[in-house]
Amino acid sequence: MGDFNWEDRIPSPGELRGGFESADDVLSRIIGDDSSIGSDLLKDTRLARSINSRKIRRSAGTRVVSVTNQKGGVGKTTTTVNVATSFAAEGIPVLVIDLDPQANTSGSLGVKKWGLGIYEVMTGQVDMGEAVVKSSLFPTLDVVPSSIDLSAIELEIAGAEGREAILKDCLFSYLKESGKKYEYVFIDCAPSLGLLVLNALTASGEVLIPVQVEYYALEGLSQLLKTIDLVRLNFNPDLKKVMMILNMVDKRTILSRKICQAVREAYPSMVLSSSIPRLVRVAEAAAAGESLTSYDPYSPASVAYRQACMEIAER
Ligand code: ATP
Ligand code: MG
Repeated sequence: MGDFNWEDRIPSPGELRGGFESADDVLSRIIGDDSSIGSDLLKDTRLARSINSRKIRRSAGTRVVSVTNQKGGVGKTTTTVNVATSFAAEGIPVLVIDLDPQANTSGSLGVKKWGLGIYEVMTGQVDMGEAVVKSSLFPTLDVVPSSIDLSAIELEIAGAEGREAILKDCLFSYLKESGKKYEYVFIDCAPSLGLLVLNALTASGEVLIPVQVEYYALEGLSQLLKTIDLVRLNFNPDLKKVMMILNMVDKRTILSRKICQAVREAYPSMVLSSSIPRLVRVAEAAAAGESLTSYDPYSPASVAYRQACMEIAER
């Protein structure tokens, strides 16, 4: 014991970069770069820090984006919630319209009091401004909630004149009259290609399609793109931008990598380069009624959503 010298073991401040050891250096010293878990953790931490420190480009006008895919459970709601909250966490004004009678988006965005919603707006009972509520998650995030009543609306408006443009008229009047300068309006759609989705597409300038990375990933995409083309031709010439986001990616499996490659090859200009990993943190944050951004800002999924937002902002 007498020969042991602590000064030989502990790096002196002068030996450390900038005088202090960074968190990365500490991690690197403890786990070492040769352990695969260690190096993954290091890579994730460095990426998170670099992405979280960059600013998201601001939008000059209001971009209306439908988040849609007629397939169920592919991540439409999860994408809407996490993309919207990633923008709002940056102080960017965002409105989310929940156009799914399941109303999961409303719940995930911290809507607690259920009153007026998109059903009352689209059936002409109230103006959209009366149904907008502030999300409890971020001050710049507003929500038009949904409710189970919305499930009957397709029958109710089926015979109405201009039935495909009801949402567009309500939204555009609200934007004009309220003077609200939202940079993004996201519309979370139900898993169908019915009249509600037609209303969402008619009100939008862009579409964001979450694609679940699984064996049947490509199935149904061509039909959805055909529907978007039909809407552009017949109802909304402004519907110009189509983006796809790969969701539930498992980089460890060959199948997942092959499917990502196949979707990218089929739709090279549409697929965002950032993809969202399949991680239990994503579902946990939703279950906790929190955004992933606040629940676990350093989770690789949270970082991936922020990267996706940066890409969307640049497009
Ligand atoms: P629906 O068609 O019913 O509206 P959806 O397309 O909106 O479904 P979500 O509700 O967003 O799909 O997601 C379906 C399920 O998958 C949810 O339980 C969600 O928590 C989970 N999920 C979505 N994305 C991920 C992910 N990246 N990692 C882990 N779980 C995920
Ligand atoms: Mg959903």
